Amino acid sequence: MSLSPITDRARLERFARHIVLPEIGGAGQAALVQAHVVLVGLGGIGSPALQYLAGAGIGRLTLIDDDRVDASNLQRQTIYTERDLGHGKAVAAKRWVSNFDAALEVTISDGRVTAVNAAELIAGADLVLDGCDNFATRLAVSDACVAARVPLLSAAVGRFQGQVGAFAGHLPDQSCYRCYVGDAFDADDCDTCAEDGMLGAMAGWAGTFAALQAIRVLLAGHAAIGDPQWGRMHVLDGLAPSLRTLRIAKDPSCRGCSP
Ligand SMILES: [Zn+2]
Repeated sequence: MSLSPITDRARLERFARHIVLPEIGGAGQAALVQAHVVLVGLGGIGSPALQYLAGAGIGRLTLIDDDRVDASNLQRQTIYTERDLGHGKAVAAKRWVSNFDAALEVTISDGRVTAVNAAELIAGADLVLDGCDNFATRLAVSDACVAARVPLLSAAVGRFQGQVGAFAGHLPDQSCYRCYVGDAFDADDCDTCAEDGMLGAMAGWAGTFAALQAIRVLLAGHAAIGDPQWGRMHVLDGLAPSLRTLRIAKDPSCRGCSP
């Protein structure tokens, strides 16, 4: 584990298909290996996102979810199997990573993210990927990211639609997630669409797209593909299918990101 993954032969081989891409290269792969990503929510978005982030060799992962694995999760939450039923998602996700690549450093939290503990949970992260299932947590995470100057990739999915957007509200000219949704959703009872239904593969698309966008953010300044695309919300329509992109302007009266 202490060997530099880029000089260790087995690691070189593991990431060879990244390194050979001019858009990533050795420098890009080295940046991924040194990155620390916090995943909030290990469900329909978090599961496939984690698979591709771990596959990309992201060296440090913090995995957060207060839920347990339920049979109805298996339709889309791809890291879990029947053996995980009833187990905490954070613990089961850590087990998945350990089996997949023991060289990755994993920290877990099985508590709920709140405005009180969010800052501590995201401290030191290069990126937070939020794929959780409720607005109260999303807004707490967003506010903490702005305060800590940590970029946020926010991803959501329901029925046949997904949304993935990158935010850097700590920058003077960039919006935050709160600029996008406003203040109306801080209450805990505004939980979204747990009972609404969702095509499992739709969660997979949104989750893997989030992993792709995460790599763009992490490689900014390190490799040609690095382009965070701040303030752009990509809307994935699984029925058409189609992809369109909205620009989220900074709200000058936003209480998350405006001074
Ligand atoms: Zn804002």
